[in-house]
Amino acid sequence: MGKASFLEQARALRRESNIEGASARRLERSKRLSALLNRAMETVFFRHRLEQAGVAYEAVSQGQTTGEAQALEIFSKLTPIGKQEIRSRFPEGVLTQDTQDGRTYRSTSGTSGERLTVVKNFSRREAGRASALHVFEVATGRSLGASITDIPPNVCNSVCGLDGPPETSVLRHIRKGLRNGSWRSEKFQSDLNGLFERRLMFKQDILPPLDARSAPDLSKQMEETWGLIENGRPYLLRAFPQYLLWLSEFKAQRSVESHYLKHVMPYGGLACDSLLSRVRRALGVETRNMYGTSELGSVAVSCNDHRAMHIIESFFEVEIFRDGSIVQDGQIGQVVITDLTNSAMPLIRYKVGDIGRILPGACGCGRDTKRLEILGRVQETLVRGNRWVTASEIGDIAYSDRGVSNFRLDQISTNHFELQIVPSFFGVSPDVDSIRSRMEDLLSVGGTEPTKITLRILPFIQPEPNGKYLTCRLRPSAWVQ
Ligand SMILES: [Zn+2]
Repeated sequence: MGKASFLEQARALRRESNIEGASARRLERSKRLSALLNRAMETVFFRHRLEQAGVAYEAVSQGQTTGEAQALEIFSKLTPIGKQEIRSRFPEGVLTQDTQDGRTYRSTSGTSGERLTVVKNFSRREAGRASALHVFEVATGRSLGASITDIPPNVCNSVCGLDGPPETSVLRHIRKGLRNGSWRSEKFQSDLNGLFERRLMFKQDILPPLDARSAPDLSKQMEETWGLIENGRPYLLRAFPQYLLWLSEFKAQRSVESHYLKHVMPYGGLACDSLLSRVRRALGVETRNMYGTSELGSVAVSCNDHRAMHIIESFFEVEIFRDGSIVQDGQIGQVVITDLTNSAMPLIRYKVGDIGRILPGACGCGRDTKRLEILGRVQETLVRGNRWVTASEIGDIAYSDRGVSNFRLDQISTNHFELQIVPSFFGVSPDVDSIRSRMEDLLSVGGTEPTKITLRILPFIQPEPNGKYLTCRLRPSAWVQ
């Protein structure tokens, strides 16, 4: 465990995701969980959490004696923690002892400026590559060698859920390793695997983000971007959801040839159904959903056009919490994740900042892992009376109208909102009054006062500093807790 290469680990993930692999998966999970808790005992922050949960840790921390059953019991008592708490204890409080395991530091790009630095060692990076490969296999049914094109929202930040060393060539890396004698080290191997992954395994092209300031300007960018996509002839296109929509609209209008493209994957798992179905129709492709963050890597992936995604259970424990307790399958709550593979900086019952639910029932594909549906970010989820209104519900209304290229709902006061709509860049007019009245109905639920929405039609919406777009900009008092 931990020493296996990413290819071996990816093979194990494939076996363990099926019904026949269920017992192997359970065994692997409980071994990993107990190993993780034992490492976490090295950190002050975790010991503090145990204390708060009323667990006497002295007994279990002696000589790493935590057994698997005991680990599960301890785990079930822990209260979920957020970015803020981890950040306030970083680095001394949250890092395990460094045993020269090739640690790298990476900062996330929080939408609300909430950055978090995450530390990963080489075994975590190998696990990240294994889960990235597994996601690719489940999504496309293919393994090595397929070409991918990525259009991330921000060139400075690497793609959500992907991990890799800094840009350099494979040969230069090998030469350097031979010269300085580091080629035998695990870090060298891990870095080489990262290069291999990016350059040879996936044939990955990364294109610059799109910047929608005006229709003519965007048209020019679209032509360039489609030109680059045609050069790469990707089997899979991954991009920010709005980019996929704009590329679809452009293609529908210009009848761009893209028969090589089979699958399209929006980043982050946040794209709503109506947006995805427009993309499917316009591009003639299947969509695959994947959920990942830069601190956790790839966590879940869909096996077909559905939004619900199979969780990579061998690597992650995913739970849904509401009001401090785990909810039943099917109910909406905060997504809480434990990364079973990061022993450098244990993330245990970590509130990622997203809202979602576990879908009840089995999937027809033969995998029996839990399936996760992501419905929006915490800061975009609105409490209306006793109900949570998610970004996904709001997005579904706006994007079901073919005349909408982008939008945002801003909260002005408790019951007054401003709906900003960017009409289609390519000539279709939206029925804005219908969109407004459907949103008013959605927000007037749960015994609240009637909601008033003011409309504003804009030529474009300014992205957030990290290049992403928000569905709603709510007053913090209105978010879910
Ligand atoms: Zn499935």
